[in-house]
Amino acid sequence: MTLVRCPDCGSSLSPVLVERLDDATGPRPAIDLRGLVRTIPDYPKPGIMFRDITTLLGHADGFRRAVSELASRFADDGVRKVAGIEARGFILGGALAHQLGAGFVPVRKKGKLPFQVIGNDYELEYGTDRVEIHVDAVGSGERVLLVDDLIATGGTAAAAIQLLEQAGATVLGASFVIELPDLGGRKRIEAMGHPVHALIAFEGD
Ligand code: AMP
Repeated sequence: MTLVRCPDCGSSLSPVLVERLDDATGPRPAIDLRGLVRTIPDYPKPGIMFRDITTLLGHADGFRRAVSELASRFADDGVRKVAGIEARGFILGGALAHQLGAGFVPVRKKGKLPFQVIGNDYELEYGTDRVEIHVDAVGSGERVLLVDDLIATGGTAAAAIQLLEQAGATVLGASFVIELPDLGGRKRIEAMGHPVHALIAFEGD
């Protein structure tokens, strides 16, 4: 297989990624975040278009640009902690917290945190899931920004926001690299009174 290099930064690109970059028409911004997301059809089950951000995370300039754009939206809002949803929200959230000069709070799935926790159960398409944080993860009135890689129905983010608020946090908003507008997540979080910031939208998912 011939190794193809990214025109922006020289790193090696997968064939899928190259195809997406080549597809871009017209003037392309220095870093095309959308083109750095890999789409895997029918994963993890038929009918799902899985939006894989590992290709974006592996691209040094793309990762930096994504974190900078996420940070700029809430840069003047006095964010004290960034709460990242397991697991891709940890990667983005750590970098975002560093850039905003904030602390980091892991929002984890059931049974993963070692200290005393509080949790919130939420509905999935089939069954339920649960998010948990440590009881002392946020202080009363502490200004918290939620982050995850992607918002679809908004169920996970809504559960995490409720949990943070139950713990006393003031939730400033929710940030995502990707939103799937057709699934209504943004409206759901905005209806809870929180702004939503997403860098890329994939319509029709
Ligand atoms: P939701 O609770 O419906 O908003 O789903 C959001 C969570 O599921 C996030 O943690 C995403 O990482 C994951 N997710 C949902 N749909 C997709 C998708 N099409 N591609 C990648 N991740 C997804």
